[in-house]
Amino acid sequence: MSETIFSKILSGAIPCHKVYEDDRVFAFLDINPLSTGHTLLIPKEAAKTLDALSEESAAALGRVLPRICRAVIAVTGVREYNVLENNGAGAHQAVAHVHFHIIPKPSSSEGLGVGWPARSLDTQAGAKLAARLREQFE
Ligand code: 5GP
Repeated sequence: MSETIFSKILSGAIPCHKVYEDDRVFAFLDINPLSTGHTLLIPKEAAKTLDALSEESAAALGRVLPRICRAVIAVTGVREYNVLENNGAGAHQAVAHVHFHIIPKPSSSEGLGVGWPARSLDTQAGAKLAARLREQFE
């Protein structure tokens, strides 16, 4: 995979405000925060999107994510927050290295704004779709 701004942060070539590090993951403050405490959690593995990530890195992220959330809550005093993970440019991914945003939501005007253009799920189409998805795990 080609080098990204996050691999340069991991190698120390670009500075950051580090929050947490272990052998598989790294967390640091976002350079353009949506709210105070906006933190990024990344795997050290250089995967572009979540579907390309190893189970080991995914497990390491999952273990640490609640701890990062607790630290952000404790320090900001803000108990509401969003966790966001974008995959692909069309889905607003700007940096091609898996990253989870932890974004405090202190007020309606700060933090992440979410568009949610929900439709209703047709029962028959839903049954077919879920069956096809289950086949992927066989
Ligand atoms: P994405 O849109 O890919 O989900 O989010 C990428 C995030 O990386 C953005 O929130 C952006 O502010 C952050 N970012 C981009 N370049 C840098 C950087 O050099 N340092 C830090 N700390 N964050 C960065």
